[in-house]
Amino acid sequence: MVNHIIFVLSLLAFTCALAFASDPSPVQDFCIADPASSGRVNGFACLDPKLAQADHFFLSGLDKAGNTSNPLSSSVTPVTVAQIPGLNILGITLARLDYAPWGLIPLHFHPRATEVLTVLEGSLYVGFVTSNPNNQFISKVLQKGDVFVFPVGLIHFQQNVGQGKAISISALSSQNPGIITVANAVFGSKPSIADDILSKAFQVDKSLIDYLQAKFYLIRIQ
Ligand code: MN
Repeated sequence: MVNHIIFVLSLLAFTCALAFASDPSPVQDFCIADPASSGRVNGFACLDPKLAQADHFFLSGLDKAGNTSNPLSSSVTPVTVAQIPGLNILGITLARLDYAPWGLIPLHFHPRATEVLTVLEGSLYVGFVTSNPNNQFISKVLQKGDVFVFPVGLIHFQQNVGQGKAISISALSSQNPGIITVANAVFGSKPSIADDILSKAFQVDKSLIDYLQAKFYLIRIQ
């Protein structure tokens, strides 16, 4: 009996060790090994905890609308570790999104975060596309008070389809979710991806690729 208990306990200890054996998820795009650097963190180094103050965990002004006078008629006000240093290592980010009529947050994805969106005002048409091979398009029109989830890493968008302005708040499950805006990344990379690569990838004429590259290279939209 005692042997049996010891066996179960040792098995438990072994599986626990396995459960903690994996690497932590990165919270930045990459971390180039630098043997000369004294930095050894995934995120930002820590302030001496004795120096912590309320303002390290505080931000004001999220009641203010962002400027939607741009080609997309939308605005993102981020609340990340860059605005609130106390968010470092805590795995969460917030953003206020403002939309003029027909304002669009264009196709993008977050490599490190799932997003939970809550509509505070107006009506939003939202959608995301699942990964290969199905690429299922899942979409819905949301009203004030509605909540919608964009799973981590999937391409999504939001558009104001109401009469007036719209406002939403998004919570994202990383202190640094990352944003990859599809059009900017594909057609606006620096330096440009060769147009014959994109022409073949998208199965369209090079002149159309050149047109899109000229547009997105110059106009970085969000
Ligand atoms: Mn998003």
